[in-house]
Amino acid sequence: MHRIHPSGKADPMKKAKKAGKRKLQSGSSRPARSEPLPGDEGHPLEALEANAQEMLRLLGEDPKREGLVRTPHRHARALQFLTSGYQSDFKKLVGGALFEAESSELVLVRDIELYSLCEHHLLPFFGKAHVAYIPNRKIIGLSKIPRIVDAYARRLQVQERLTSQVADHLVEILDPLGVAVILESVHLCMMMRGVEKQNSTTLTSAMRGVFRDDARSRHELLTLIGGLGGARR
Ligand SMILES: [Zn+2]
Repeated sequence: MHRIHPSGKADPMKKAKKAGKRKLQSGSSRPARSEPLPGDEGHPLEALEANAQEMLRLLGEDPKREGLVRTPHRHARALQFLTSGYQSDFKKLVGGALFEAESSELVLVRDIELYSLCEHHLLPFFGKAHVAYIPNRKIIGLSKIPRIVDAYARRLQVQERLTSQVADHLVEILDPLGVAVILESVHLCMMMRGVEKQNSTTLTSAMRGVFRDDARSRHELLTLIGGLGGARR
């Protein structure tokens, strides 16, 4: 795995807002919200709400202020959704969508919208995922690939681990000739605070099988993906 930091241009926030809304409405693998989280025996939603209320107070706010009254509840539910990937049932998620491969030509799902939370600051990072594989005996229904990305993205993450987890998961269920996962994203913890770098994109890649060992396969993949820098496209 390696990282490079090319530059992007456009303002990602408008796009992110719109896409975020769509995403929240269309999530289908979310668990029941009141289900206990791992390591929490009580009522996690209520506990999270109480914590959020305390956080507002510690930040110098008045949690009883009209605009903030329901905020702890909304915040807790949002956090539960954004970390719902921990409860992903991959067997159910992939379901019967594994089929016999008729060829071993490259399959690429490009520009998958990606939203995750950085585990160091609990701030979002978001962008695009490109996932490719070369089948051996099995192929997977194309719509399952974004679902697998979401299942790992809806956790507290670092981009490097997220990249590897998606690649390794596909290796495990498909036993393909090769898998490549490339993530391009921007990190709000870098943009809004700290180094305040608004124009840097972080790229991570995980190559397995022929994509790691064979320069020609890797070249074919990069040609198909086209110009990177797509976190802001
Ligand atoms: Zn961070």
